Amino acid sequence: MDCESANSLMMKYMDGDLSEHEAARLNHHITECAACKEEFMLYDSIVKDFSALTLVKAPDDLESRVMSSIYALPAYTGQTVSHIMYGFWGLIAVIMSLGALLVMNRDYILEQMALNPSFAPILIFLNPLAASVKTLFAQTQMLVQQAGAVVEPGLNWVVPIAVCSLAVAQFIIYHNEKQRKEKVAE
Ligand SMILES: [Zn+2]
Repeated sequence: MDCESANSLMMKYMDGDLSEHEAARLNHHITECAACKEEFMLYDSIVKDFSALTLVKAPDDLESRVMSSIYALPAYTGQTVSHIMYGFWGLIAVIMSLGALLVMNRDYILEQMALNPSFAPILIFLNPLAASVKTLFAQTQMLVQQAGAVVEPGLNWVVPIAVCSLAVAQFIIYHNEKQRKEKVAE
């Protein structure tokens, strides 16, 4: 038998349909041909590895067991740290933006308060240096100018708008996250 015939018998051996007669012929060739012997040893080890693999075939109920283990896991409650943090940062952003609005526009707010006599008691509390409502406005204007000198007039609205946008973005993220988790829980 030549090497080519031996090789085709090796293929049959790999497929597992080698007859006893063919096995004897192949065996005879292998004992005389070192190249085919080496090749056969390689094929044989593959066949043995493969049959070893099929011996540890997964049990039929494995999938159902895995799935039931997954279903047995505690249900997701949706209350996570990040969930709470979204609300926290949203609140901080809102407080900061309100504060920034008051600070940045105190000039206008105090002006309006000084012009409206019903705010006089509050202004007197805020500005005890003023003796009357008349001097109150001038005094307040002076204090505002002194304190407000450091703030660029053009930037007055930039910070509150930026902080408000941040608050809105935080709220949208928080809201979407909440809705997504409610959907998951359903
Ligand atoms: Zn050979």
